[in-house]
Amino acid sequence: MPAKDALADYHGKRDFARTPEPEGGAREPDGGPRFVVQIHDASTLHFDFRLEVDGVLKSWAVPKGPSGDPHDRRLAVPTEDHPLEYADFEGVITAGEYGGGTVIVWDEGGYRPLTDGPFAEALEHGHASFWLNGAKLHGGYSLTRTRGGPDGNREAWLLVKRADRHACAHHSTDPRRARSAHSGLTLRQVAAGSEPVRP
Ligand code: MN
Repeated sequence: MPAKDALADYHGKRDFARTPEPEGGAREPDGGPRFVVQIHDASTLHFDFRLEVDGVLKSWAVPKGPSGDPHDRRLAVPTEDHPLEYADFEGVITAGEYGGGTVIVWDEGGYRPLTDGPFAEALEHGHASFWLNGAKLHGGYSLTRTRGGPDGNREAWLLVKRADRHACAHHSTDPRRARSAHSGLTLRQVAAGSEPVRP
């Protein structure tokens, strides 16, 4: 279970009478930890990278999205912890609300920590490696804090592919053409209210 106030920031930013996003608290963790990468067409188009840790989704906004090339260092800016249910969220956040815009689930799956000791502690210390088993993303990745920290400075992290057999050059995704791993839909189709092309 997440700590009692783990979602306080998430709740504080949203009016659940006005946003279709989940309020959270209804799902218990099951099986191994999950990850999700969403594409979010908000005031700026970006990817949101989320890892299930201790009953919440630890979250980073990644402007360019993950790369399969170990030479690419992708800026990842921490955002508030999200509820586990958010991993399934795909839809349109009402214009004018926090994060207003369209969200699709670009990739999802399980992950396995590659660093020793409690994973939450590794993140607190500013470095964690993990192995992704997604529909699109595979292999080892690292998240490393490069700026800021517990003193309240704005944090910056880097999301980098580790050198392994799943590494590949020139792996970038056009977020406007990308299809949801969930529904098969593009941002534009979800915004238009299209029915899923996959069950
Ligand atoms: Mn976002």
